[in-house]
Amino acid sequence: MVEPEVSTALKDELVIRITRAISVRVTADGKTVDMLTTKRTVKDVLAQAGIAVSPLDKVIPAGENHLSSGDEIKIIRVTEGFEKQKVKIPYRIIKKENNAMEKGLSRVLSKGKDGLKEVTYKVTFEDGREVERQATEEKIITPVQNETVEFGTITTVATARGEVRFKKAFRMLATAYCACKKCTNKEPGHPQYGITYSGIPVRPGIVAVDPRVIPLGSRLYVEGYGFALAADIGGAIKGNRIDLYYPTHGETERYGARRIKVYLLE
Ligand SMILES: [Zn+2]
Repeated sequence: MVEPEVSTALKDELVIRITRAISVRVTADGKTVDMLTTKRTVKDVLAQAGIAVSPLDKVIPAGENHLSSGDEIKIIRVTEGFEKQKVKIPYRIIKKENNAMEKGLSRVLSKGKDGLKEVTYKVTFEDGREVERQATEEKIITPVQNETVEFGTITTVATARGEVRFKKAFRMLATAYCACKKCTNKEPGHPQYGITYSGIPVRPGIVAVDPRVIPLGSRLYVEGYGFALAADIGGAIKGNRIDLYYPTHGETERYGARRIKVYLLE
């Protein structure tokens, strides 16, 4: 650019100013343009290029910076929006000790229920891509109800041999079995007749358990039955089930099925 215009007649002390054009690369809105300009600041170049910049937009380098040939200007379009989203509030379990209950046992005092809230997020986009999400407001739609569970703390049980310490108590459904074919599907004379899964012969005090609940070999105290050894398993004995050995089938029938407590001894 030449100032004043090239057609201006020369006179004394006329100052002729020549501003050389520089090449600047401008990237905005997905397009890159190389332009020749006599402007020197980022702001002026953008104005000349007709690129509007909103206050949120990022201009790199910033508008007041001076440019040299070969420089690049980058415009990142920044937009903000608000989004509402329903979010679950998961209930928490509040544990309470009950010193009148055996360790290992628990009881739900009040059932938990998840709540629901509406969260408003301010979402920031740069060139259409989400870069930030910030919760700005929360409105409870359904309040959460936490679950209250009480846990037992007692670690001793009264037995015929006095107080005995235990590691864990279980509530179990108990049934009874004997060595008969009805109970074990083995005739007298079968090589495994009267032999437990552990290999030891049955006798009063032998019980069948689910080894995933009570390890085989554990010493137990069974309410209404007495001291016992977990030495056997059974097809139906899964989870909180226990099968108690009695010498005669009549006794097993009299026993039936009972809900009892089983104590895993130390
Ligand atoms: Zn039987």
